[in-house]
Amino acid sequence: MKSKHAQVHFNESGTPVADHFDDVYFSNDSGIDETQHVFIEGNDLPSRWLTWTKPTFVIAETGFGTGLNFLVTMRAFRTFRKTNPAHPLKHLYFITTEKFPLPPKDMKRALSAFPALKEESDALGDKYPMGLEGCHRLDFPEFTTTLDLWIGDVHALLPQWHSPMHGLVDAWFLDGFAPSKNPDMWTEALFSQMARLSKKGTTFGTFTAAGIVKRGLAAVGFNIKKRNGFGRKRDMLTGEFDDTHENVPQKLRTPLGPYYRFSTTLNTEKDHVIVVGSGLAAASVCLSLTKRGINTTLCFDGDTPATGASGNPQGGFYPQLHSEASIASRLQAHSFLYAKQYYHDILHHHPQVPHAFCGVIQLSFNDNVATRQSKLAASEVWPDALVRHVTEAEVSQKANIALPYSGLWIEQGGWLSPPSLVNAMLSQASASGLLTIKANHRYVSHCVAGKDIQRSSADNNETQDTVKVMFDVCDRAHHDTEKTEVTIEAQHVILALGAGATAADEFSSLPLRPVRGQVEAIPSQAPLSDLCTVLCHKGYMTPAMDGRHALGSTYVKNDLSTEVCEVETQTNLNTHKQALENTNLIADLSHDGTARAATRLGSPDHQPVVGTMHDFNALKKEYSELGQGKPLQQTPLLPRSGISTLTCLGSRGLTTAPLMAEVLVSGLCAEPLPLNNDLLNAVNTSRFMTRQAIRGE
Ligand code: SAM
Repeated sequence: MKSKHAQVHFNESGTPVADHFDDVYFSNDSGIDETQHVFIEGNDLPSRWLTWTKPTFVIAETGFGTGLNFLVTMRAFRTFRKTNPAHPLKHLYFITTEKFPLPPKDMKRALSAFPALKEESDALGDKYPMGLEGCHRLDFPEFTTTLDLWIGDVHALLPQWHSPMHGLVDAWFLDGFAPSKNPDMWTEALFSQMARLSKKGTTFGTFTAAGIVKRGLAAVGFNIKKRNGFGRKRDMLTGEFDDTHENVPQKLRTPLGPYYRFSTTLNTEKDHVIVVGSGLAAASVCLSLTKRGINTTLCFDGDTPATGASGNPQGGFYPQLHSEASIASRLQAHSFLYAKQYYHDILHHHPQVPHAFCGVIQLSFNDNVATRQSKLAASEVWPDALVRHVTEAEVSQKANIALPYSGLWIEQGGWLSPPSLVNAMLSQASASGLLTIKANHRYVSHCVAGKDIQRSSADNNETQDTVKVMFDVCDRAHHDTEKTEVTIEAQHVILALGAGATAADEFSSLPLRPVRGQVEAIPSQAPLSDLCTVLCHKGYMTPAMDGRHALGSTYVKNDLSTEVCEVETQTNLNTHKQALENTNLIADLSHDGTARAATRLGSPDHQPVVGTMHDFNALKKEYSELGQGKPLQQTPLLPRSGISTLTCLGSRGLTTAPLMAEVLVSGLCAEPLPLNNDLLNAVNTSRFMTRQAIRGE
């Protein structure tokens, strides 16, 4: 999971050279001009962008290196957008792989040779991820560009990219050291994956004119052209994909993952989406929709947002990691890293949101936990920048309180105030002019007009069906107790109801697990007032906000009540007393009984539930052959659906909501998905149905 960094030195021209490959990252003559010539002009980007009719353009690169190609392209795209503000092409996706990420200091040094790219380099430098395998989605809103930086080997990663039937990528930047220096990369497997992911008319550009590349790409359906190379190179190759060519390996184009994403495609220009919910999940979905230019209406019951599980004044923000790179841990790690930069951007515009990225300590408060933590520290699975073992002395120094335990230190973690954060996210989404917020709208039901919906692969640009969503409207703020029923029409509805889902018929075929949680708001007092990091053990406590510390939490299954109860106050205090019995932190704590209780919604496997909704009980019959060993790939696509959900975030919404919203909305728009296939499958709405069908239930 932790990746190996590149080892580089700088040659006499100041160009970085990879020790392992003995090759330069870019031309000694002029890196920027080389990118412009080989990749930007090699793919005819400026002229193709001008005639492009879709809202997004997807570039895929092999070998991110210093990021120079990306920066030059992002700059060119900004120039294009500035010159053509009304153009339908609005957003650039740049998806790239890197097996050996450059250490940040080498990257900075390499890019300092290009002062013309300072703004772009600084933006990348601010977000450049730690060396953790998997997808790092980095948003650059000021450049209307998203970078999906996939850390790992291109051969392992390209098969993870989920493609609509008509392809995903519009242009390829084939970089990655010369074939003579890096023969393992330039293989048939790479060219086949390129064919799988390309569309009719997808182009490529590469600095090399090697026969193996020319023949390999021709063999999978690219028409190849030779052009003048850059600098001292005589030739280079460009080409265009012909999906009807007899060489195209058709079987490769079958969707890989079993869960059939991209079964529904929104038209971002025209479609209207209703989001129902008021917490972190709903607010994240609204931001993901509006940043894609989608007209969005948010409806919720009650006068204000964040009245459910996202209403606690303080929430700890950190990933829950195991010593192995399990699916659950990888989801946590990537969600956390995405959420960190996402909140950073929001806090930049809304600094009033109470928060502190003060670090989180997971205390090794008993022998079992100490053993688990030592295993994690020894496993070397996670970068130190994400989590590292700290001694008792370090724990006390970081917490600013004497604590007789060692622990795990999550430097980038901390706490935020979810209700204030939700309001900031909604205000950011509203700034797009695309979000309408309707309070006091209680979701009742929905129906999809046009029952005879054909199964589609989402490639056919069919117009969406209309979804009619019924609400009870009751303006309690003005003491109006009369309910009126209101219908709002849209092309899609996303239910982010949290615990409210337990009462909605749409969720009857999903296994939902509501869990009540009470959190104490303890008046700040010595010695607790000195605490300056979040402390986790069996429970958690935070530094003070507005003179109170959060101290939580209880877990009571299937309890939907939200009244504060004394028994749970005692449970919370006892949990802390037991875990911290060797300290003076809790024993004499005085509490005035202020607390808050809410119901979080979880799932049986504790992972979020993200994706389109169906009557899974009915669908299970269609998938029953899975129980007799039929491969998932050969079972039918999921039907089209006018309804999706983002739910079951449990008590981890602060960590998971932003990335899960990106997964959902990227899927609805048939855009690149920011997770590996196994992680996508682990969160998809259809996983329970599929597992039951496989088990023959
Ligand atoms: N595009 C880069 C830039 O703008 O700086 C230059 C790329 S450099 C010539 C080639 C990059 O490909 C290196 O960073 C190298 O680590 C990466 N690479 C080589 N083999 C790879 C593989 N099998 N999978 C992923 N990345 C690989």
